[in-house]
Amino acid sequence: MEPITLVRASLGEQELAAVAEVFASGWPAGQGPRGKALEAQLAEMYGVGDAVAVSNCGAALHLALLAFGVEPGDEVIVADYTFPAPAQAVRYVDAVPVFADVRADTGTVDPQSVADLISPRTVGMIVVDTLGIPADYTELQELADRHGLFVVEDAACAVGATYRGRPAGSLAEVACLSFHGRKGATSGEGGALLARDPRIGAQVRLRSSFGIGSIFDLGKVVGLPIPEFTEIGYNYKLSDIAAAILQVQLGRIDELLDRRNAVAARYGELLADEELLTLPHVPEDRTHAWQSYVVTLDARVDRAAVAAELRGQGIGCGQGAWATHLQPVFESDHKCPVSADLFARNLAVPMHAELTSDQVERVAAALRGAVRSASDRALGGAA
Ligand SMILES: *Cc1c(COP(=O)(O)O)cnc(C)c1O
Repeated sequence: MEPITLVRASLGEQELAAVAEVFASGWPAGQGPRGKALEAQLAEMYGVGDAVAVSNCGAALHLALLAFGVEPGDEVIVADYTFPAPAQAVRYVDAVPVFADVRADTGTVDPQSVADLISPRTVGMIVVDTLGIPADYTELQELADRHGLFVVEDAACAVGATYRGRPAGSLAEVACLSFHGRKGATSGEGGALLARDPRIGAQVRLRSSFGIGSIFDLGKVVGLPIPEFTEIGYNYKLSDIAAAILQVQLGRIDELLDRRNAVAARYGELLADEELLTLPHVPEDRTHAWQSYVVTLDARVDRAAVAAELRGQGIGCGQGAWATHLQPVFESDHKCPVSADLFARNLAVPMHAELTSDQVERVAAALRGAVRSASDRALGGAA
């Protein structure tokens, strides 16, 4: 049978046509006309002071921590259950990631865990919209305000999600987006930093291009202005080729999201009565971007056996996110038991905008069969 992949990007003729226009323009590098147009589109979409297009979300997180002046030895609280980019970014600036446990029902950071971890060395927190679902920003922002901390929203998975009527990506003073190939909108690799304060945006843009302004703009100035390098910057620019692709993808975001929503709703109908599975929980005050569809297996189910069975049938699957504090590079005595439990029991099944209803049904049936037989085996055939 035809394989069903875990993820698949929805890139087609419209994106190709946009790329052809960039080729014809003669400016494929970053910070050209398409990059600027994308930044304007993002700032408008999110109602923020500035948007900076960057090469990926990891770069955006790094630039966010630099913008907040995080220094070696500072503590930054990070959501533990996630792709571990936030903790990596904290280490880029020689600061200390402090791992906060998460809610069992949503996988997003638990405001109480954050509160318990605030110390005199804490300077801020990186909150993650886990797998596409926004965290508890009202409570988290209150904590941050009370203790004078910055908040960065890692909305890498959450383009299109909402929290209390506001879009994910606008829920903190700075937000980071990813346009990696397995996120909801993509240019292959790509990212953005959204800032409420335009001064942060301007500083981030400068640091994303070796500390000097747009080379494209420089070429248009009369005379010979020679920019001076006054600080160390990075090359975190997004190419105009990628920006053109993203302009199309963002224009299609409602369509792509509708299809993901339909897939999630169908999984919900097909699997709701399966007692060996807990399906994703979406609290009433927010919506999910469905970057991934992740179920939690009953503790009696052998997850590796389920994965082997699904893959044997050509169905892609994965473990979902990571418990960051358990990764060898972040070795820490601090425990996050809920995150560790989700890391042990979660299973991501195919979720993308190209799935057909037949494929969704095939996945649901295979998953149901696999968890049943993998729990029988775990119980020594007794069930
Ligand atoms: C994917 C992801 C990232 C990394 O995004 P890149 O654009 O690949 O750097 C960061 N944070 C989270 C939560 C992610 O899921």
